[in-house]
Amino acid sequence: MQLVFATHNQNKLIEIKAILPDHIEVLSLNDINCTEEILETASTIEGNALIKANYIAKYYGYNCFADDTGLEVEALNGAPGVYSARFAGEQKNANDNINKLLKELSLHNNRKAHFKTVVALHLKNQEPVSFEGIIKGHITKSKRGSNGFGYDPVFQPIGYDETFAELSLPVKNKISHRARAMKKLLDYLKNKS
Ligand code: IMP
Repeated sequence: MQLVFATHNQNKLIEIKAILPDHIEVLSLNDINCTEEILETASTIEGNALIKANYIAKYYGYNCFADDTGLEVEALNGAPGVYSARFAGEQKNANDNINKLLKELSLHNNRKAHFKTVVALHLKNQEPVSFEGIIKGHITKSKRGSNGFGYDPVFQPIGYDETFAELSLPVKNKISHRARAMKKLLDYLKNKS
């Protein structure tokens, strides 16, 4: 089976290819010559995932899935949430985002947070469906590790002494928000076949 993953983010593409079994061939947006940016204009994580999957299904005609993720921090009432990529501004700089997060949290003792991913799947001639994956943890006081991307250096999942950026990719891929949502997608595909 062939599925387009609607992302321009190479890190996510690598993660997803490692998660999916070999019988599913993952095509990137580059593979289908889609170079335009798909605007994420929804006010929810699920809404943005659906926008991306529906766009590729409609304009390119492929079976497709898309994900959208937010980091939800309890003491910040769920922020940065749907605005995680551009928390510190439109330049979408991960380091600036982390620095802003650490500064805002410095006034709080509660550092609980979770990542939430919604994966939207749009198969040809079918209604789109979506799957959610969550991992709970806390925001560390400083950055640790150099693996991964985004907020990984300051997110420590429950049950681990390391941040996501200190864990290896295979370990992150076993427990991450994206892996959990993708497992639900795989179960859905298995039950359909
Ligand atoms: P996206 O919508 O999946 O691109 O995610 C929005 C933002 O959330 C990204 O720009 C990253 O800052 C952050 N993010 C998403 N997934 C992860 C992850 O696995 N680790 C760390 N940060 C992430």
